[in-house]
Amino acid sequence: MTGDGGAVDGAAEGLAEFRTDLDAWLDGHTDALAPGFEGAGTLDQQMAQLAKVKRLVFDAGWMRSGWPQRVGGLGGSTLTRAYLGEALTARDLVEPGLYSMTEVLAPTMIDYAAPELAAAMVPALLRGDETWCQGFSEPDAGSNLAALACRAERTDAGWRVTGQKVWTSLAQYAQRCVLLTRSGPPEAAHRGITALFVDMDSPGITVRPIGTMHGSPEFSELFFDGVVVPFDRMLGEEGGGWAVAMDLLPFERSTSLWHRAAFLHRRLQELLETAPPGAIDPYRLGEATQLLYAFRARSRATQHRMAEGDRLGPETSIDKVLLATAEQTVFDLIADALVAEVTMGDDPVSGRWRTEYLYSRAASIYGGSAEIQRNIIARRLLDLGDDR
Ligand SMILES: Cc1cc2nc3c(=O)[nH]c(=O)nc-3n(C[C@H](O)[C@H](O)[C@H](O)COP(=O)(O)OP(=O)(O)OC[C@H]3O[C@@H](n4cnc5c(N)ncnc54)[C@H](O)[C@@H]3O)c2cc1C
Repeated sequence: MTGDGGAVDGAAEGLAEFRTDLDAWLDGHTDALAPGFEGAGTLDQQMAQLAKVKRLVFDAGWMRSGWPQRVGGLGGSTLTRAYLGEALTARDLVEPGLYSMTEVLAPTMIDYAAPELAAAMVPALLRGDETWCQGFSEPDAGSNLAALACRAERTDAGWRVTGQKVWTSLAQYAQRCVLLTRSGPPEAAHRGITALFVDMDSPGITVRPIGTMHGSPEFSELFFDGVVVPFDRMLGEEGGGWAVAMDLLPFERSTSLWHRAAFLHRRLQELLETAPPGAIDPYRLGEATQLLYAFRARSRATQHRMAEGDRLGPETSIDKVLLATAEQTVFDLIADALVAEVTMGDDPVSGRWRTEYLYSRAASIYGGSAEIQRNIIARRLLDLGDDR
């Protein structure tokens, strides 16, 4: 996608210049940016690569573009952020899922944290000095997030948190966690939730990585046993955590996914170069390409809406459904054409096809399952049935 003229273009003043200058800088820093491993690499290697790349692009100013000056950014259009992610992913310099956490968590932190807290914390995330995680899901609260039970009680020392989270991506690497807690009675449902910004080295936190079928333990169980969180670590108001979640999820379902199109384009291109003659069904190739462009067109429009200052909301469920459909169709095509690599590949280089195929199955689960996105589209966008 990089340089094909169809990316987030023109509309933002200075974007064309940003793209040209960034591409030239990336071309000039190939060795410094390159991963020191072949194939997909281990999760440890991918995380180290992500931190290295973020540090280099932050120190050179690219990673600061499009973020507010009050959190260490340089201001300017958010479209430059989108292009940076696209360029890094298109060159296979970062793993797209790991890179996206910044676009999921930082915007909400900027909007809801006390200004001095956001100013102190966000630069460390942008520069790759820190990893943050998102503690929303629980064993009995995934799709039905308003049922969450991880308890926060007021004490003289601050909030005292006790409970469990699950599927918390990168928690084992994280220095901070954006955590949803129940501070009111259970019957208060979504009105009794408070969001906290928690230091992961606080006494009482246990992190247990969970194995995955694709072999990369990207998420963990998180246990909180009387963890004290200072009051000034509240995001938004006491009891206002639902608003934080409802503002964060649209980023997770849309803008943070933009650069996955660059990743999927790259893999489709590699498939065309790698597959044995006749192995690719042209009809299915056409279908995968069309779905990918449908996601990209939708995602591009969302990026422009964010750049114009629009508040993102439930309409981002459409972006999420399109991404999950495109990603799984692309990898179904890959599995069909590269049967041996996807079914048995355990070689560190060619085994990347297998790892990525297996991970593509999660695209219709993370960020809210495809069924839940369709419920939101039906009820909240099309006004069909109850909004429950
Ligand atoms: C790779 C990955 C990374 C993740 N990272 C994080 C993270 O960092 N932080 C975090 O908090 N969570 C994370 N999650 C968790 C994710 O948000 C949840 O898995 C997701 O919201 C679904 O919740 P659940 O797993 O509890 O499934 P459930 O809610 O139990 O759903 C099970 C099935 O029932 C269906 N279903 C449930 N309710 C309905 C309904 N009302 N109508 C129709 N169908 C329904 C669902 O679609 C699903 O198919 C991650 C998940 C994955 C796979």
